[in-house]
Amino acid sequence: MSKHYSVGAIIIRSDRYLLIDRVKFPFGYACVAGHRNPDETDEEAVDREVIEETKLVVVRKKLVYTEVVPWNTCSKGINVHDWKVYECDATGDVLIDPGEAKSYGWYTREEIYNLNLEPVWKYFFEKLGILGRNF
Ligand SMILES: [Zn+2]
Repeated sequence: MSKHYSVGAIIIRSDRYLLIDRVKFPFGYACVAGHRNPDETDEEAVDREVIEETKLVVVRKKLVYTEVVPWNTCSKGINVHDWKVYECDATGDVLIDPGEAKSYGWYTREEIYNLNLEPVWKYFFEKLGILGRNF
């Protein structure tokens, strides 16, 4: 079965989470994420994706979640994604890539609860206890 390797970056400042409103399928609000290239490690992939999509520079990261998600179809038509999700501190000012996102924002957990999230990020936030009613 064909699968892709993906990395995600949960970037937090002052209890607010950086989310982008994706212009590409799968749509919805999401953390910075992308496919790992064959020639790079997961850590290198997350650093690269954060720079490409936001111009921020990751200064610290911690792997917080990993799962092979079988229902997570991407724009290339692959359903299975082997995810590594990192919680990251990142420096700089956000400059979004218009090819990736319509907009971005720093959202509280309560605000995230009311956003239309990309399904896999809704799932990760629930798994990580970020989305809950204990605001
Ligand atoms: Zn994919």
